[in-house]
Amino acid sequence: MLISEDLTCQELVELVTEYLEGGLSSTDRDRFEQHIVLCDGCAVYLEQMRTTISLTGSLTEEAIPAETQAGLLGLFRDWKQG
Ligand SMILES: [Zn+2]
Repeated sequence: MLISEDLTCQELVELVTEYLEGGLSSTDRDRFEQHIVLCDGCAVYLEQMRTTISLTGSLTEEAIPAETQAGLLGLFRDWKQG
């Protein structure tokens, strides 16, 4: 299916915090997720933002996907060992 209004990378960066906080409309969220699927750079950026926001405590633990929480647990373990 052709998406007529593709998000640009810059638009995605501007929306990422709202996306992670669940503040986007369903339409914007669809466009956001469509871009993430197609753009490796923004997919990496989104993961970095998720990690950063969770570490700084801007989002509640419930809002962080289990997958990311598991990744963070691994990160903390690495820090202890390092
Ligand atoms: Zn992008």
